Amino acid sequence: MKNDVIIVGGGMVGAAMALKLAKQGCMVTVIEQQQVDFNAVLASEDLDLRVSAINRFSEQLFAELGILDNLLTKRHAPYRRLAAFEQVKQTLLFDAKDIDYDYLGHIIENKLIQAALWQAFASHNITVKSDLGKLNRIEQVESRITLHYGKSELTADLVIAADGGQSITRQLAGIGTTGWQYQQSCMGILIKLDAPQQDITWQQFQATGPVAFLPLQAPYANLIWYHSGTQLAKLAALNPGQLKQKVIEHFPTLPGDFEVIEQAVFPLTRQHANQYVQGRLVLVGDSAHTINPLAGQGVNLGFKDVQQLATCLANKLDVGDKAALLQYQRYRKTANLVMMSAMDACYLGFSNQIPPLKWLRNKVLATAERSGPLKNWVLKYAIGEKL
Ligand SMILES: Cc1cc2nc3c(=O)[nH]c(=O)nc-3n(C[C@H](O)[C@H](O)[C@H](O)COP(=O)(O)OP(=O)(O)OC[C@H]3O[C@@H](n4cnc5c(N)ncnc54)[C@H](O)[C@@H]3O)c2cc1C
Repeated sequence: MKNDVIIVGGGMVGAAMALKLAKQGCMVTVIEQQQVDFNAVLASEDLDLRVSAINRFSEQLFAELGILDNLLTKRHAPYRRLAAFEQVKQTLLFDAKDIDYDYLGHIIENKLIQAALWQAFASHNITVKSDLGKLNRIEQVESRITLHYGKSELTADLVIAADGGQSITRQLAGIGTTGWQYQQSCMGILIKLDAPQQDITWQQFQATGPVAFLPLQAPYANLIWYHSGTQLAKLAALNPGQLKQKVIEHFPTLPGDFEVIEQAVFPLTRQHANQYVQGRLVLVGDSAHTINPLAGQGVNLGFKDVQQLATCLANKLDVGDKAALLQYQRYRKTANLVMMSAMDACYLGFSNQIPPLKWLRNKVLATAERSGPLKNWVLKYAIGEKL
């Protein structure tokens, strides 16, 4: 028996889910509201400001999906070291060498990842629909689930919501969320950097919020600046030369002169769905959880959802198998909550300027730097090898 699966949302997570289930023998339809011309995206020399630090676990998934080699022929930057500090002299440095790896992951533009996944759809018989209009209603009976659009409807054995943080699918199903909007937002700044290829991504905790550096394929890099929404709105209104001056004043020294190419401000939201499963509807990726991007974990958690859901459904006669779906929820909801809480502990711990706390966190950084096995465990967790 072939199971029909509909995936709402063909972003990075939905597209990976589609390929994974198609490889397991399901008949997959992806509903994506945007028309994606993946050939044009892959050929384009315009960089996407939105990039992701893809960890080794996610790369393993890409390899299984058969897209890793193709993706690594496109723009990307391996990162070998991760650094976190408040004062440069007390840096907590994680190095791939410490756990006998060549690198920790790659920083890749989101649109290249999505396009590489979409390019593989053709060889897996995945149907794409992008002209259905607005999703109005979801109806479930014992053995089927139906999505109602304006004039049409689609029925399947399982619907997977991968339609992002504002998921209309989740909302129509009446699945609530817990979470909050952080008091800060963050600005991504794409720069052209006059320096050789960088292999370190670092984050400095400042009183106003963290600032971070992510290497892209030379000569480019990405800067992330956390601040209040009001301050970032002022920075966003500056011309590239003025913004460059502000970066020079507020960031640690960059490895070379640079030019600001583009910037955009993103809200910071923590949101966790109260349930991942409702009958034959299941949530993956940002539709289930959005996390502070502090340690670049968001889409990596989404790829873990993909892997786990596919594992739970493997060899099931019915992809809507209740026990299998609940098993997925049990594994991923807890693991995602742990990562979200760890990010919040870092964010809150480092954004507070009370002197004893400032003293304590610098002690923690110094102790962690010398902690050998614990440090390596944290590093393995960050690259997706734990939980
Ligand atoms: C500043 C910033 C930096 C980040 N850095 C990192 C990082 O370094 N590493 C990392 O792992 N994560 C990072 N993240 C998080 C990461 O970007 C998200 O977790 C990821 O994009 C989520 O992917 P997704 O496919 O679940 O959702 P989305 O990317 O939101 O994709 C949803 C898709 O669904 C489509 N869609 C929406 N509604 C509908 C509908 N009704 N019908 C059909 N289609 C629909 C959309 O068009 C879109 O294609 C960062 C986030 C931010 C804001």
